[in-house]
Amino acid sequence: MGITEYYDNRKAVVTASFDDWQNNSDGNFITACNKFQERQLWASAGIITGDLLEETWTHIQDQIDDGFIEPVSHSQNHLGDPLFCLNATVEVGQSSVMIKDNLMLPVFNQNGSHEYVYAYLLPFGLICNQTLMAMMSSTYLVSRNSNSSVTGFSPWRSDYNIYAPAGFTIRMGYDTEEDKNILNHTFDSVYDTGGIYHLNLHPWALGDAEWVSYGDAHLDHIKDKKDIWYVSFGHLYLYHFMKEKELVTVITAEQ
Ligand SMILES: [Zn+2]
Repeated sequence: MGITEYYDNRKAVVTASFDDWQNNSDGNFITACNKFQERQLWASAGIITGDLLEETWTHIQDQIDDGFIEPVSHSQNHLGDPLFCLNATVEVGQSSVMIKDNLMLPVFNQNGSHEYVYAYLLPFGLICNQTLMAMMSSTYLVSRNSNSSVTGFSPWRSDYNIYAPAGFTIRMGYDTEEDKNILNHTFDSVYDTGGIYHLNLHPWALGDAEWVSYGDAHLDHIKDKKDIWYVSFGHLYLYHFMKEKELVTVITAEQ
């Protein structure tokens, strides 16, 4: 007994992450959010928090309020190595403070007066050294790197108190998949085997032509399945964390 592997004992999971919400990608992000929302697909929107106009914050809030969008951090300034590491306190910690200060988070990101930003999308898929893992663990529950073909959960790192960086299954557009048949086939095999289908996209790389040629068709293919749990990336790991915590409690009680 106990909590099921996936919510409501669903067979498989669909989640998504969007990279690079900043002022000049704002319009593309609104488009992508709308396309997910109208199909009741959840997505975690990765915000670059350092240089956002008031107007952009307002647009992010509007999308959160419309539902199906979880705000997550994609760093403060999207720096690469070694600048990122020199400024890691700001890039990792301050970014979540900015999100909490500027937005009203979804209800699943609140507990009493506390607000939580669960996930951190590493800029450029940075490799995590010990310092970075320790820093992320003080603020986030999980991070996402740029590993692809991933269809399961990342393991808990008890040495840091955070999940190991998770990858995604496939990236739609930008530098990878632009063929709706390959996208659909990849989803089908994850669905058949009861895995986690994590779709990643960079909304700034998806214009009308890209949505028409493969984006819309792929989202239509993955939506509306009764035995799939549609969930954002951070909420997926929050549930998983609670399930694993319950397991620990059960084992302790039996001893
Ligand atoms: Zn990025």
